[in-house]
Amino acid sequence: MKKHYSISKDSQRNHREVHTMGCKYQPDIYHREYLGFFSSSDEAAAEATQKHGQACMCKYCCSGQVEDLQL
Ligand SMILES: [Zn+2]
Repeated sequence: MKKHYSISKDSQRNHREVHTMGCKYQPDIYHREYLGFFSSSDEAAAEATQKHGQACMCKYCCSGQVEDLQL
């Protein structure tokens, strides 16, 4: 099932985290960016990494994927 994903924008810490829309741990609307519609959190994280250089996945909403995807 495809889901919408967003990414947090935290320029101060340069820490970006991928969330599904609806995750209660995602930041408020001013601190997140719409990422797109993906069939898995891996795809969303790959897109986020391509756009922003690094991203990690929310451990609460991204299906148990907790590894950092820092390249
Ligand atoms: Zn989340």
